[in-house]
Amino acid sequence: MVTSLKESLWVELDELLKVIEAFLPANPQAAENDKLTKPVEKDLRDYFRTLEQAFPYSDVLAIFGPIVATQGGQTESRGSHKAEKPGSIPSPATIMEADPWDEPIGLLINAFSKQIQSRLTGRLLNIYLTGSAQMIEWGRTKTTDRPIFNEGPPMRQAFEYADARCARLVTQMDTETKNRLAKVVGDSIRDKEGIPNLARNIRNEFSDMTKYRSETIARTETADALEQSFMDRSHDIGVTGKRWITTDPCDVCMANGNLGTVPLDEAPYMDVWGGSIERPPAHPRCRCALAPVMLEEG
Ligand SMILES: [Zn+2]
Repeated sequence: MVTSLKESLWVELDELLKVIEAFLPANPQAAENDKLTKPVEKDLRDYFRTLEQAFPYSDVLAIFGPIVATQGGQTESRGSHKAEKPGSIPSPATIMEADPWDEPIGLLINAFSKQIQSRLTGRLLNIYLTGSAQMIEWGRTKTTDRPIFNEGPPMRQAFEYADARCARLVTQMDTETKNRLAKVVGDSIRDKEGIPNLARNIRNEFSDMTKYRSETIARTETADALEQSFMDRSHDIGVTGKRWITTDPCDVCMANGNLGTVPLDEAPYMDVWGGSIERPPAHPRCRCALAPVMLEEG
């Protein structure tokens, strides 16, 4: 029967894809690499929890009271005068310009930045080297016409990558943390929630960072380190092409996957912000990978 033949072909194809996935080197989706996200996630959870615990809740009145007062929010109760003061809600950008973000909030965040940065650098270094080892192993079995470099792990590139990546990451994380807190303050002012509720809302925001945001950053950074090692080692072992292999793709990743095989050095893919990229991830939590391809010499 046609249908059953078709079905069995699909099953076969599905099996085949699983096999390919299992043997893709430096694949974020592979079980052994997925495990690499866990220590990163734990470091980040500890970091956000530390911020949560160190936050000066008892001073929240002194810190944000002036903003709440000058921006027209009511610091007492959620009275019945809600309709009387429209149009005085500060934007997060306005709130970001206020003093508390330098001191004490900025100081608080800076105090722990260096620590998380050096931890994450160590983690990314390890992930990059793991991906590198998988690529080199793959190269041993697939590229026969080229000597495989025998210089041990590519330490210098690993350090350079992890160092630069984490410096940028931590700066972005600090900004994002401040933006999130500014939004909580802004929302609390808009809703005329008063200072006690503001403290509670800040705690809730930190606890969301501890849970969801830690996981997001850990996944994205693991994928990034693996894919960078894919690119660097591909150059070393003479891989000439690549193919974007999707997992749970969004529309952007689907389009990347549909490009088929492309030369290694090209950047024909798009990230979700419209930039052109040479490798995944295309967005936070992206699980896509690259497959190495040997292009026919023209
Ligand atoms: Zn993706």
